[in-house]
Amino acid sequence: MKTQQNWVKISTLLMLLSFLSSAFSLTTFAANVQQPTQYEKSYTIVSPYEDVDWENYGQYKADFHAHSTNSDGGNLTKDMVEDHYSKGYDILAMTDHNYLTKSWDKVTEGAIDSAREAEIVAGVDRDGKGMIDIYNSDEQSITDHINSFFADFNNSTGATMASTIQTVEEMGGITHINHAGRYTGGRQGGEAGIAASNDPATIQKYVDLFAAYSSCVGMEIINKIDNESRSDRILWDNILKEMMPNGRFVWGFSNDDTHSINATGYSWNIMLMPSLSQEATRKAMETGAFYAVSRVSRPDGINATLPDGSSTPGSGTSSTLYLLDQTTPSISNIVVNQKDNTITINGQDHDTIEWIADGVVIATGATLDLNDYENEINSYVRAQLKSSTGIAFTQPFGVKENKPATISITSIENGNKQANVNFDIRSANGKGYVVYLSESGNEGTYAPYSDVNYNSKGAHIKGLENKEYYAYIMYVEGNTIIEKSEPVLLNPGK
Ligand SMILES: [Zn+2]
Ligand SMILES: [Zn+2]
Repeated sequence: MKTQQNWVKISTLLMLLSFLSSAFSLTTFAANVQQPTQYEKSYTIVSPYEDVDWENYGQYKADFHAHSTNSDGGNLTKDMVEDHYSKGYDILAMTDHNYLTKSWDKVTEGAIDSAREAEIVAGVDRDGKGMIDIYNSDEQSITDHINSFFADFNNSTGATMASTIQTVEEMGGITHINHAGRYTGGRQGGEAGIAASNDPATIQKYVDLFAAYSSCVGMEIINKIDNESRSDRILWDNILKEMMPNGRFVWGFSNDDTHSINATGYSWNIMLMPSLSQEATRKAMETGAFYAVSRVSRPDGINATLPDGSSTPGSGTSSTLYLLDQTTPSISNIVVNQKDNTITINGQDHDTIEWIADGVVIATGATLDLNDYENEINSYVRAQLKSSTGIAFTQPFGVKENKPATISITSIENGNKQANVNFDIRSANGKGYVVYLSESGNEGTYAPYSDVNYNSKGAHIKGLENKEYYAYIMYVEGNTIIEKSEPVLLNPGK
């Protein structure tokens, strides 16, 4: 009887011990699993504004698309020049259809007097703030329209978009694609325009041109009070999604495509340059050191209707002239912090700043922290500053994830409830290293594990049960992942 009682006591004790032992083991593991720290991806941000000295550079207002009576415009070249000058423009390219404007004073009809052109370039009556000509400009219009600059060339019958762009390139000039929406159907708003701009064949057509010709620097994203371009920002984003992984930037241009003095002043480009010159303008067009501004963005509802509620007509009518007195957003500084993976925009006259990745608004506010949107951001982000009376588009920022370097694990040594993971460790104190463990297989959930000693051979992981785990090692600096191993199987007790 006594013996039996003892046996009961002993077996109870054993059961209790066994229970305590497993409970203790579970508790130990749980205690060693840390709250996951938010380790972050590291990015390289390629900013078109990297070389811009915001404090000392000028902001120069440019129109790269304007017509005169030398094609289908309503005013003489000299009147278009004077009107731009009086409206504060600094740069003007006269781009008549299939007509090469070598310079404003050398056109067939309505040439400006050379002496007057010299005054305008010198900034007479504008406190020395001159307006310059973009020489050898032409809207190549045999095919889908393409604006060419700095090339003594005019297309002729039989031209293709590719042949035109190529010839301009061979002659040392540059091009941008005009009002794509007229050809794609993207000029429409709503579902039809969106569908047209998402058509893979359409996207591919432009991707092929941009991929083949580096001298084709971009495309219009605003044309004629957004009448011709309503869904062209969707196309732009689709093109960027394709091109940016290859590091090919496609710049967005905002142009009135003005055909009369009444149609001038609704959209423009602000070139960020050390001083005003043709060379600097060309460089900014090529490097993206500019931002695009418009008084109208129809999909965004910005001046999409007239005050009486009717739809805003195209440019060139007196009913839209009131727009010219409204403020528009501007940008005074953009700071990229490579270490923190942030981009900050200082702007004026805006209500909000939207950040766009792959065509989707992912965030609003002056600063974008890329790490807050790691799942949304792929190859680029861009921003737009919006108010009720205008919009300013930054050019795209290239974003490339700095993939962590590989930690090569050289061997695993399994012990009783412990394991050594050996690798080429930077320092025996293990500073910066983190061990992640999964109890649920290679594809399972990994959590940082703290019961680890480091030595010159690698990591000594303790407090385990004798069962299978998967583990990987990370080396971090601050919150940034610098190196990472592949997961390896630990099998303590075996
Ligand atoms: Zn055109
Ligand atoms: Zn045009």
